[in-house]
Amino acid sequence: MNNSKVVSELEQIVGDRYVSDEPEIQFLYHYDFITAEPEGKCDIAIMPESAEEVQEIVKIANKYKIPVVPWVSGINFGSIATPRKGGIVVDLRRMNRVLEVNEDDMYAVVEGGITWADLKGYLDKHHPNFRAGITYSPPGTGVIPSCLCYGMFDLGMIGGTGAEFINGLEVVLPTGELIRTGSCSLSKYWFGRQPLPDISGLFIGWEGTTGIVTKAAIKLWPKLPYRTDFLPIASRMEVGAPMMVKLSKAGLGIVDLCMINMGWTQSLQCFNQKSVAKDPVALGIPDFVALITTQAYTEEQHKAQCEAIKSICKEHKIEPFTAEVQIRNFPKNMWGLIPHIFPSTGGQLPMHFWTCWDFSRGGGGEWIGCYVSIRNIVKYYNLAREICLKYDKTPQFYSRIMFGGHYCVARINVNFDKNDPEDIKKTRQILKEIHDAVQQLDGVIMYKPPKWVVQYYKDKTLPATNKLVENVKKFLDPNNIMNPGQGIGED
Ligand SMILES: Cc1cc2nc3c(=O)[nH]c(=O)nc-3n(C[C@H](O)[C@H](O)[C@H](O)COP(=O)(O)OP(=O)(O)OC[C@H]3O[C@@H](n4cnc5c(N)ncnc54)[C@H](O)[C@@H]3O)c2cc1C
Repeated sequence: MNNSKVVSELEQIVGDRYVSDEPEIQFLYHYDFITAEPEGKCDIAIMPESAEEVQEIVKIANKYKIPVVPWVSGINFGSIATPRKGGIVVDLRRMNRVLEVNEDDMYAVVEGGITWADLKGYLDKHHPNFRAGITYSPPGTGVIPSCLCYGMFDLGMIGGTGAEFINGLEVVLPTGELIRTGSCSLSKYWFGRQPLPDISGLFIGWEGTTGIVTKAAIKLWPKLPYRTDFLPIASRMEVGAPMMVKLSKAGLGIVDLCMINMGWTQSLQCFNQKSVAKDPVALGIPDFVALITTQAYTEEQHKAQCEAIKSICKEHKIEPFTAEVQIRNFPKNMWGLIPHIFPSTGGQLPMHFWTCWDFSRGGGGEWIGCYVSIRNIVKYYNLAREICLKYDKTPQFYSRIMFGGHYCVARINVNFDKNDPEDIKKTRQILKEIHDAVQQLDGVIMYKPPKWVVQYYKDKTLPATNKLVENVKKFLDPNNIMNPGQGIGED
């Protein structure tokens, strides 16, 4: 590819300040900062400011048949924004505005490159009684990618996955045309995807391979005046998980139900992996920490909800400590990031969780993150835990019960040293083994899947289903320029 010719055409669209093929710029976009997946190559990086500019970029990419990769921060754990076949990386972070907030229908219309920090900052300032769900990802990561890739937020119990937060989309198709999905395709209101044919699904779960979202409406939720975060601890996942399942079916104003093991807890406390208790079960230390967040409109209602939560905890012989009390139970050198998570302890998301992947451990982290039947949470954890321990890695487990208790997400993280090829090799082996082991449990489906997992799923899926996915991809992207090499819809 003749970079300079393409660069000069791209400069006509965004100006020379916002397009580059300089090596130091290419480097920034060539890989996923944290994963053990192979690197790619960015030939040209460009930062458009509007949907019209995105359309023009995509038209040039079609003319020269060059890959185009939509990108916000490239930190997604699956290397799904890595330019595997080179080409143009479209960094969307200049498109970071909140365009409208509708408090009646509770949504915000945002641009495709908005980050969690942008969104939260805007809402806190202009609509303080409303909030979006927030991830544990760093503040500079993208809202729209997280929604498109089934991410999960701290409102997962009421809102479901990030995909379920999407009310409608404006998308530049791989041919450069602009379309809209949902109620905004017919009116000025972006209140939902109902009751039209739901073509938003053509862009959800496709990892940027079917178009570039330039606008989206995402659901907001009211901040209610009364809120408590409980942080109970139990000896083992087997003891704690049934309590969480029961809570998920009990209503009680619960907006978030999250369970983590001691490995992940220690990570949040900023401990170096080399000095933590890798196997708390063998040491007789608790290996289960729960986060239960409840909110209410009146004090009386809140009191009743909290009492019911406490009584369910006690039924399972677990002390229902609130986060405020529990954190004070830890020695101060164990506080780490935990107090910063909860409003009741003076913290607030989004915040930097980079410490979990700190450089004393080599800064690398990757997971097998899956949507799972609630039945399989404990089995998933135990299978993954054993494999981590076999390779002398700290198992870091994290699960959320979602959408009023209809399913859950579960993931096991593995830290590694990005500068150590042997450790990267070992990590890939662990991830592969965990993936294969958890497939024994029916209905364990990975989100943000790296390419090797996409291939695995193709082999399991009905051939006609695969064919349909391929046909959709070919129809939308006839020149196969949109984020190619990820495997989705490709032969
Ligand atoms: C410490 C840590 C904790 C995390 N915790 C969470 C968590 O709690 N919940 C969670 O959901 N995630 C979490 N993540 C994962 C991830 O960082 C987030 O989901 C994040 O929001 C992804 O944004 P990104 O900007 O990195 O996406 P990118 O990597 O830039 O993009 C991801 C995918 O979306 C595509 N894409 C990007 N923008 C568009 C667009 N506008 N149109 C079409 N396709 C697009 C890309 O091509 C790519 O395929 C965590 C990550 C870290 C490092």
